Amino acid sequence: MNDGYFHFIILSLILLLGIVLCAYIIQMHKFNQKLNQFTDRDTITDLWNINKFVYEVSKVLIENKHQKMNYAMVSININKFRYVIENYGYEYGNLVLKQLAVSLTKMLPSKALLSRHNGDRFVLFLPFDNEHDITDYLSKMYIKLEYCTVDDFTVRLSYSSGIYLYKLDHHEQSSTISEKDIYLSIDKADLARAQAKNTVNSYAFFNKEIQKRFMNEKMVEENMEHALSEKEFIIYYQPKYDIFQNKIVGAEALVRWNTKTNGFLVPDVFIPVFEKNDFIIELDFYVLEEVCKLIRYWIDHGISVVPVSVNQSRNHLRKNDYLKRLDSLMKKYQIPKTMIELELTESAFMDLDNTPQFMNDMSEMGFLVSMDDFGSGYSSLNMLNQIPINTLKLDKCFLNELADGRRTSIIMKKIVEMADRLNMQVICEGVENLAQVEFLKSIGCNYAQGYYYAKPMPVDEFRMRYETNLFR
Ligand code: C2E
Ligand code: MG
Ligand code: MG
Repeated sequence: MNDGYFHFIILSLILLLGIVLCAYIIQMHKFNQKLNQFTDRDTITDLWNINKFVYEVSKVLIENKHQKMNYAMVSININKFRYVIENYGYEYGNLVLKQLAVSLTKMLPSKALLSRHNGDRFVLFLPFDNEHDITDYLSKMYIKLEYCTVDDFTVRLSYSSGIYLYKLDHHEQSSTISEKDIYLSIDKADLARAQAKNTVNSYAFFNKEIQKRFMNEKMVEENMEHALSEKEFIIYYQPKYDIFQNKIVGAEALVRWNTKTNGFLVPDVFIPVFEKNDFIIELDFYVLEEVCKLIRYWIDHGISVVPVSVNQSRNHLRKNDYLKRLDSLMKKYQIPKTMIELELTESAFMDLDNTPQFMNDMSEMGFLVSMDDFGSGYSSLNMLNQIPINTLKLDKCFLNELADGRRTSIIMKKIVEMADRLNMQVICEGVENLAQVEFLKSIGCNYAQGYYYAKPMPVDEFRMRYETNLFR
């Protein structure tokens, strides 16, 4: 082999290697692009997924930090989309979402960004000049997207949106906006949307009031676990009176939160948050266990015992192990079931598909149940006939309305009569003055609870009041 031929072969080999390497690099690049596209995209709508969306929003904010531009984060929700799923199926629902994504993309203003967050929720990052631009855009969008046709079949949809406006300092602050802040702005738009929720084609702006609620919710969520283990939840007891004998016959356990940094909180501040995140399950069992310990203590020390009622959240009714957990707690402290009454708010009974069966199980296991806040919502008298309830607790709204005329007094009288026939006890809550007590006596209602007699109080105070039979 001569030298020239040898060089030719070596050069050809190098060229071939170069071509193969180039082809390989191009293929890898394409593959990476595909991979990126796959991981950056929502599989149903092919829009950006939320991570990519947040990344792109942060890029826009940083790139335009010196420009005088306003931005809004908008969270858009399809009202009652679950009906579409229930009626037409999951697959059809996905096709509707896909179709909406196409329509939304078509009407997207320039420089706006769009993503599907999850479920039936879209998020939109929108540059704007003045706030009317946003609401005008949403109103037009609601009209355009009212009818959605998939496979020759049309569904009619309505929407609700929440809007969070970025307040940027155009000099330097925008450069400090992190991805965490952007996720937070989506949360804020979501919170505003919850205000507008299920009102047809509505929108709401995030404002100070919502901000306050949001901060409270955050504070509650961040501290709740610690508070439970540190025993920051304390129980107050409000006496229940026999109004004919002027005697304490029981108590209701009402929880309070003695926080280290935010003072003494009443249930309205934290119970709704716990009901949302399900922490109420643990709190209610904590309260119940504390009450069991107290009753055990009374029994062991020969102190006369009064029945105590505890409030039970509606969330329990969807837990399969609820009755079992209740039962084992009572057994652990050997508490006679007649010593504890479970208060369930009226509307909780309406939530359940199988209420009568559930209540029968409860009754067969020997638990005493009181229907709390009776009359505050849609009371079903028919239901009272179907489910075993031991006590009917008349809501305070009855007493408020009493002053307005005869009708309320007639209704209350009839409820007491009916409860009596159905072997239920009746107690009226929120009793604040003597006139109300006299009225309750006149209609044969035996029991009352309210500020007229006593406010909720610490256990020692309750005990003293009970032992001295202190009346008011
Ligand atoms: P509820 O069970 O209907 O309790 C009665 C509420 O009315 C209590 O408020 C009580 O302090 C208040 N109250 C009593 N007498 C009067 C009166 O004469 N006038 C007025 N205006 N109010 C009166 P509180 O303690 O703030 O509790 C509010 C609600 O929080 C309770 O309503 C109950 O639904 C819930 N809650 C309290 N503790 C617990 C708990 O341990 N678990 C659960 N799941 N809910 C609880
Ligand atoms: Mg109650
Ligand atoms: Mg009540």
